[in-house]
Amino acid sequence: MCICNRLDDLKNEINNSNVTVIAVTKTKPVEIIKNVYECKHKSFGENKAQELVAKYEQLKELDIEWHMIGHLQRNKVKYIAPFVSMIHSVDSLKLLKEINKQATKNNRVINCLLQFHIATEDSKFGLNIEECEELLNSDEFKTFSNIKICGVMGMATYTDNLDLVRNEFRTLKNYYDYLKENYFTESLEFKEISMGMTNDWEIALEEGATILRIGTLIFGKR
Ligand SMILES: *Cc1c(COP(=O)(O)O)cnc(C)c1O
Repeated sequence: MCICNRLDDLKNEINNSNVTVIAVTKTKPVEIIKNVYECKHKSFGENKAQELVAKYEQLKELDIEWHMIGHLQRNKVKYIAPFVSMIHSVDSLKLLKEINKQATKNNRVINCLLQFHIATEDSKFGLNIEECEELLNSDEFKTFSNIKICGVMGMATYTDNLDLVRNEFRTLKNYYDYLKENYFTESLEFKEISMGMTNDWEIALEEGATILRIGTLIFGKR
């Protein structure tokens, strides 16, 4: 089956136009991205800044929305700031400060998601709720005029234990609701919950995901 059929099947199964699918193209060549773009899909994600930049450079003429979904080092922000559409992996005030600085230099406002550590594995990045509130309450955060906080992101534990996965997604949804109510009541933009990948997207959707990040299911094994 061709990639576009797989993507269309997925969108049909989701059957909700308010849910965005990000096609995760890490390790895949730009030709494949072009193919998927030709099926009228415009949201793509990469987990490494270098690969994101390289692919952007080669596909500049296409109006692709590029999402940075992986851990981001501060010294790499300047390379993606000119074009990135959303950064899903904001996990510190320092990183957000650098994003704001580079966004300002580029005369842009960059959309950001706050990444939470919801998995039991300790290898995954992300804030806990206390750290997040500390960030949001800081005086410095209030001065950032070139970033827009659009919601939250998280990755569940890689496991067959679907109850655990569901609980982790539910935790992220609860964080979202809590932040919405306490910090973003006035914000129309704070509306995204980025969770769910190839192995767990159905559960993520049931638990309230608005953005799914899908690679393997569309493109096959890496
Ligand atoms: C690779 C990756 C995905 C997609 O993973 P699949 O299991 O291939 O769908 C989603 N989110 C992040 C952060 C990733 O690095």
